[in-house]
Amino acid sequence: MISRIDLRGSLPENLRDVLPRAELDVEAALEKVRPICEDVRHRGAVAVRELTARFDGVEIQSARVSAEAIQRALDELDPKVRAALEEAITRTRKVHRDQRRTDTTTQVVPGGTVTERWVPVERVGLYVPGGRAVYPSSVVMNVVPAQEAGVESLAVTSPAQKDFGGLPHPTILAACALLGVDEVYSVGGAQAVAMFAYGTEECPSATMVTGPGNIWVAAAKRLLKGVIGIDSEAGPTEIAILADSTADPRHVAADLISQAEHDVIAAAVLVTDSVELAEAVEKELPGQVAATRHSARIAEALSGRQSGIVLVDDLAAGLRVVDAYAAEHLEIQTADAAEVAAKVRNAGAIFVGPYSPVSLGDYLAGSNHVLPTGGCACHSSGLSVQSFLRGIHVIDYTRQALADAAEHTCVLADAEDLPAHGAAIRARFDWEIPS
Ligand code: NAD
Repeated sequence: MISRIDLRGSLPENLRDVLPRAELDVEAALEKVRPICEDVRHRGAVAVRELTARFDGVEIQSARVSAEAIQRALDELDPKVRAALEEAITRTRKVHRDQRRTDTTTQVVPGGTVTERWVPVERVGLYVPGGRAVYPSSVVMNVVPAQEAGVESLAVTSPAQKDFGGLPHPTILAACALLGVDEVYSVGGAQAVAMFAYGTEECPSATMVTGPGNIWVAAAKRLLKGVIGIDSEAGPTEIAILADSTADPRHVAADLISQAEHDVIAAAVLVTDSVELAEAVEKELPGQVAATRHSARIAEALSGRQSGIVLVDDLAAGLRVVDAYAAEHLEIQTADAAEVAAKVRNAGAIFVGPYSPVSLGDYLAGSNHVLPTGGCACHSSGLSVQSFLRGIHVIDYTRQALADAAEHTCVLADAEDLPAHGAAIRARFDWEIPS
């Protein structure tokens, strides 16, 4: 069901290349999404409706979801789901509120200050996936940090569902209502990203689009980056587990399965120095997979080339492997898990010890679940309040402070052969500063 990669002995130089990873050809997908985005750019709302009919199989009259439909979804929400969503919102808000930045002013010299002012982007489009599964939790993960950052205008979009009359899934609408979001669209895929980038008759353009999605969403974000700001390319999900002989194979198997449930190209990777654990997990998987609802999807993800069990000599080698892999989600199930976790450099989020599974982080830990995939965790972070803020430097110098810096500034301008830069300084002192 899951392949093994034996890296005992010495680790290869090209570690990253030998590790399992989904062959996600976002570059190839770019060619497919380019005409979709162009269509939305030129024909606006009409194109959005036609593309929704083509890719989601449902005719919609309007992409904008009415206030009545949003309220109805909340009224009809199962009280247990409502309570769980409310608790998720409370915990997520608690963590993200602590991420808010304060402006800092540095007195560089007497009379010369630089202030870093944190300003939220004006309007964001938040993408909530809804193809294979529906993700009301992603409404929470997108909306809460944007709200805590102080974004004034925010709109949510999620694919139109055939079974719900072309509206997004009702739980998604209900989550929007709980968070006070009243601008919601029933649009998915690349056309949703293009709608936010270019704007349509129904949806004003946004400054930024965030949120996870499939390969088409990721490709559209890459294509339109620049036209619109994006967060990371949060694509098909990944879990890596670094475990030793102290880990419980039932937990390890369950956690690999839980992320494989997202997508047939989801990646589940166990890195261990214990052959006994590897064997026990291999034994555990078939029974647990067979017992779960989406067993076909999970079996495909686990047996795909993006998933596997990697055997290493010891935890030090294991750490090198997980750093090279840079997983979206990394669980540490070892003795002294906190100590091992502290040594990790590259991961979207780290889950420490036996009682911090990724499923908790997907919903209720308080952390954000929109995380970088495909190895991007070595340079990018997950969604946070910071994602929606720009740090603007405000420079404020007096005449005397400028005079004190004038000579050095003019020297550097001359060294760069940009004499007009120096002249802009000298003009303020009646050209008395020597050139
Ligand atoms: P989705 O909403 O991302 O994509 C569905 C849309 O894709 C449809 O509305 C349709 O318009 C478009 N589409 C489908 N087939 C197409 C085609 N052939 N050409 C062009 N467009 C097409 O929903 P999904 O498919 O369920 O994917 C959700 C993804 O999000 C999963 O891979 C999941 O792992 C991932 N995810 C990632 C994170 C993260 O933080 N990285 C979090 C949650 C979910």
